[in-house]
Amino acid sequence: MERVVIIGGGEAGLIAAAYLERATETDVILVSERQYHVFSFLLYDVLAGTPFNRACLDLPSMFREKDVTVVQGLVKGLDATENRIDLRNGSLHFDTLLITVGGVTKYDIDDRGHVFDIRTDVREIRSEVNSPNICDVVVVGGGPVGVETTATLSSVDDTKVTMITSSRRPISDFPPRASRIAERELRQQGVSFETETRVTEATENAVVLGDDDIEPSDLTVWAGGVRPNPVIESFGLQQNERGLRVDSHLRCLGVDAVYAAGDVVDYSGKVKDGYSAGLEARIAAKNVLRGLRGQRLLEHNVRWHPRAVYLGRSDALLTVNGRVYHGRGPAILRTVAAKSYPFYWKSVY
Ligand SMILES: Cc1cc2nc3c(=O)[nH]c(=O)nc-3n(C[C@H](O)[C@H](O)[C@H](O)COP(=O)(O)OP(=O)(O)OC[C@H]3O[C@@H](n4cnc5c(N)ncnc54)[C@H](O)[C@@H]3O)c2cc1C
Repeated sequence: MERVVIIGGGEAGLIAAAYLERATETDVILVSERQYHVFSFLLYDVLAGTPFNRACLDLPSMFREKDVTVVQGLVKGLDATENRIDLRNGSLHFDTLLITVGGVTKYDIDDRGHVFDIRTDVREIRSEVNSPNICDVVVVGGGPVGVETTATLSSVDDTKVTMITSSRRPISDFPPRASRIAERELRQQGVSFETETRVTEATENAVVLGDDDIEPSDLTVWAGGVRPNPVIESFGLQQNERGLRVDSHLRCLGVDAVYAAGDVVDYSGKVKDGYSAGLEARIAAKNVLRGLRGQRLLEHNVRWHPRAVYLGRSDALLTVNGRVYHGRGPAILRTVAAKSYPFYWKSVY
């Protein structure tokens, strides 16, 4: 049996495990720091009041009947020449490794004592938003996560939401029409914008913009994009500031038995979202098997990449290959996709 170790039980790691579990010649071990996976796009529902556990998938119960061993552990290091990963307690040998440890929020400020992280603090944000002293809310970050967070929080009564983005417009990497629509729709919901602006400090009741402008803030939510999980710095693999460098087969550069997928990787044209993570996970998992069987590896190439952004209760944007769709249709599509995804998972396992 060839031992395949996957590190990271998130979007990419779980999809890869689901694929590899079906192969008879592999012994699959999934190492993840948490016992559960959080469906990130359901975090907006949690912001709006849905219990947190509804956004979670319990890993041991999902894999109980399956041929995947779940190890709860925090990976600390990698020795790619000895085929070994180091955990907080002990180490694990692998024949092939798949790295899917994702990313962390990108910050511009050092002191985070007065900011809430959209990735990790959703329950705290929810309870803050409910408290009567919260009037001014600032969302830092104008990417899709910043826009969806803003749209969700602006629907809460009595809050005035300001989005701060270093770009000229929100979702600036989307087609310009999508960007304009997002700004227009959020403005109509009462959202204010500070564009081409960086937050340099966050205090208890305000954020500091640039050198000295002050924006009042009772609640500052940081949604400032993603950077690769810092643990990879100890892996000794080729990387840049956006992630691990991989070849077109999703193999880490310079090592044969180590693959990577999801938010932790970088290549030309990489989009850091769940859709890409899923596609990469499937190709990486197939290549893991092909590599073990001595077969030719598959190329990862993205022909089309649909991206949806929620803009309010019955409003969303969908972009596919430069085309932009807006309104109730994309909103229904997005809601159906988000609500059915956890059921899809349960049926996969
Ligand atoms: C609020 C929010 C909303 C989003 N909404 C959408 C959306 O609507 N659509 C979309 O396509 N994308 C969305 N995204 C982006 C999407 O969640 C990510 O792109 C996707 O989860 C990346 O998958 P991944 O497997 O690379 O990383 P993750 O899903 O983050 O998984 C990484 C896993 O690795 C584990 N891990 C990390 N470090 C270690 C370690 N040292 N040892 C062991 N385990 C470790 C983590 O616990 C986690 O389980 C959203 C992101 C956020 C924050």
